[in-house]
Amino acid sequence: MANLGNPKNTIEIIQKYEFMFQKKFGQNFLIDTHVLEKIISAAGITKNDCVLEIGPGIGTMTQYLAENAGHVVAVEIDRNLIPILKETLADYDNVTVINEDILRVDIKALAEEYNGGKPIKVVANLPYYITTPIIMGLFESGVPIDNITVMVQKEVADRMKEGPGSKDYGALSLAVQYYAEPEIVANVPPNCFIPRPNVGSAVIRLTRHKEMPVEMKDPALMFKIIRASFNQRRKTLQNGLGNAPELPYTKEQIAAAIAEMGLTPTIRGEALSLAQFAQLSDILGEMK
Ligand code: SAM
Repeated sequence: MANLGNPKNTIEIIQKYEFMFQKKFGQNFLIDTHVLEKIISAAGITKNDCVLEIGPGIGTMTQYLAENAGHVVAVEIDRNLIPILKETLADYDNVTVINEDILRVDIKALAEEYNGGKPIKVVANLPYYITTPIIMGLFESGVPIDNITVMVQKEVADRMKEGPGSKDYGALSLAVQYYAEPEIVANVPPNCFIPRPNVGSAVIRLTRHKEMPVEMKDPALMFKIIRASFNQRRKTLQNGLGNAPELPYTKEQIAAAIAEMGLTPTIRGEALSLAQFAQLSDILGEMK
C-alpha cells in the first residue's frame, strides 16, 4: 500500500471512496512524512510495544505504527472510514481496528486483552474537540501507560507544560503535570494536514511519572480545589475558594489554611505550584 503521508496518495484514496470529511469529528488528516516520523521516534515505539491509536482516520499514522510496533489497536468513531482502513492496512496483521467512540471504550480492558495489562503507549493526531476528556480519561481511569504522544492544538500543548506565573498555566497544566512529564517535540503548521485546520498544532509527549511528584491524602479534593481556583481566575484564592459551591469550607477556614501555608491573603490561585495545591488540600481536608 502506498504511503499516505504523501498528499497525492491521500487525495487518491479519499476520491476513490468519495469520503466526506466530517467537521464534527475533527477530521484533519496528516500529509507530512517528516511529522509522522517525528511522532514515531518521539514515542520511542519498538516491536515490544502495544500502541493504542485514537482516531486512525484513513490509516496514515497507523501504517507507520504497524511497521514499528508489536501490536496496534486503533479506535475510530467514523464508520465511513472502516472500509478505507481495511484497504490501507491490508498489508499488516498486527493491527486491530475498533469502530467505537474512544470516550466509551474500556481502555483498561483493551490493555489487558492486547498487552496482558502491561503499560501501553498512546499515539494520536487527536480530534481537537475532545482533547481534554481523552487525556484526563486516560490518566484518571488508571490505564497502565508508558507515554502518550499526541498532536494537539498548539495553545493546548502550551497550557499542558506551563508552570505558575505563565498566562497559560491552569487546571489542565496541573492535572497533566500531576500524572506526567510534558515535552513539546514539534510545532506543526496547518499545511501539514488535509483539510487545513485554522489553528497551529504541536506534538506533545506526556511521559507517565514512575513515582507521583507530590503526595497528598485526597487527590480528588485537590483537583476540586484546583478547578475552583481557576474557575474564578481574576479573584484571589481566598475569594475563589470561598465562593465555590462545590467546596464545603467557610471563608474563615480558607483564610486560616492560606495563612498556615505562609502565603499572603491576596495570593491568586495561578501563583500556586502543584506541591502547594497538594499542601492546601491536606490542610483543608483536615478541617472537614
Ligand atoms: N490519525 C489520522 C491522521 O493523522 O491523519 C486522523 C486524525 S484526525 C485529526 C482525528 C480522527 O479521530 C478522525 O479520524 C476522527 O474521525 C476520529 N475521531 C473523532 N472523534 C472520535 C472519537 N470520539 N473516538 C474515536 N475516534 C474519533
